[in-house]
Amino acid sequence: MKKIAIIGAGFSGLYLANLLEMDSNFDYKIYEKRQKLNLEEGYGIQLSVNSIKLLNKIGFKSIPAHQIYYPNKVNFFDAKNNNKICDIDIARFNEENNRYTTLKRSTLIKFLCDKVPDSKINYNIELKDVEHSEKLIANFSNNLNENFDYIVVSDGVFSNTKSIIAGKNISPKFFKSVALRGNIKSHNNSDISIFMGPNFHFVIYPVNQNKEYNFVSIIKKNLSQKQVEDEKLFKNNDFLQSLISHINQNAFIDLNDNLENIKAFPIFVSEKLEIVNRKNVFFVGDALFSFPPSFAQGASQSIEASNDLFEDIKNDSDRYYKQRINKIKSVNWRSKLNHLAFHLKNPFFTFIRNISLKYLTKNERFLKNYLGKIYRN
Ligand SMILES: Cc1cc2nc3c(=O)[nH]c(=O)nc-3n(C[C@H](O)[C@H](O)[C@H](O)COP(=O)(O)OP(=O)(O)OC[C@H]3O[C@@H](n4cnc5c(N)ncnc54)[C@H](O)[C@@H]3O)c2cc1C
Repeated sequence: MKKIAIIGAGFSGLYLANLLEMDSNFDYKIYEKRQKLNLEEGYGIQLSVNSIKLLNKIGFKSIPAHQIYYPNKVNFFDAKNNNKICDIDIARFNEENNRYTTLKRSTLIKFLCDKVPDSKINYNIELKDVEHSEKLIANFSNNLNENFDYIVVSDGVFSNTKSIIAGKNISPKFFKSVALRGNIKSHNNSDISIFMGPNFHFVIYPVNQNKEYNFVSIIKKNLSQKQVEDEKLFKNNDFLQSLISHINQNAFIDLNDNLENIKAFPIFVSEKLEIVNRKNVFFVGDALFSFPPSFAQGASQSIEASNDLFEDIKNDSDRYYKQRINKIKSVNWRSKLNHLAFHLKNPFFTFIRNISLKYLTKNERFLKNYLGKIYRN
């Protein structure tokens, strides 16, 4: 029986745990830095059919229907006047049982934890060092050592474990943008709506069938290194209000009346794709590569990566990084392009963007290449 350590209980680590739980050839343990998982958070997540297909392998269909939502379209609006520019029929990429889905992050985490026995997750613990002998000897922060056949690193965008394994500091870079998240009180569109404005965009979508909506905005913001590292700044009321004002001044919506549970944080992305080659140590999810969020693919790719890695380990093959590198490149340039297009400021370029969007969102070949290649791989 092969023994696997999973470092980090996010979407990628927990999805891998579910696959291992179903295969008696493997034993595994999860090591999580936090004291507990956040099962209350109401913020949302979009999952495209590529990850829904994989989640259905582990019983995603068992989630009660009222806790999830199946949007049919992505609507594009001018944030200033709420004028609709065009829409994409995302349901066209759906398969009979695999449909583009939106839900609360906490609903997904609860589902992923459901079949993982509590005893498999060790909280409040980090990996400190790995020694290679016949097996991998993992040294943990509680001074315990344990032997494993494989170590899978899934500790997210700031992956401290990546630096430990690589023996050098590998940090993501600040994307010169800040995310503003919240729950929107009233909204009357049941699909995904993207509102584009100068140097910002925001997205609203339902997270279940109970008329609860997620709001997420990405706002361009040049901050100093000191500001980015200052956690207090992101909780400071004046700072939050300045982000809200930026949107209020340039959009039809008044967020002061409409937004609850507001949270802001800086966005970090991977500087480059750095593959750390240590025998039987693998990286998945944001720890492998973290994308700009404007293509809503990070979690879907994290789930895909864990599935690819599981197949590789099971079949004793070495295709994992080759497959991932291609996919990461494809998703990364699309994410950057979306970000650029959504944030245009110059009226002439905005005009050209809107005309191009109207044309492209109805162009079969474009949709097949731009979205289909990622959603229906
Ligand atoms: C604003 C925004 C919106 C987004 N929206 C979407 C979306 O709609 N759809 C989508 O697909 N993606 C989206 N993403 C991306 C998505 O959230 C991430 O790609 C995804 O959460 C990555 O999953 P993960 O398992 O790799 O890492 P995480 O979810 O970050 O989990 C990492 C886990 O490791 C733990 N950990 C950290 N350090 C250590 C350590 N040293 N030792 C042990 N444990 C550790 C953490 O506590 C955490 O539990 C969005 C991202 C942002 C910023």
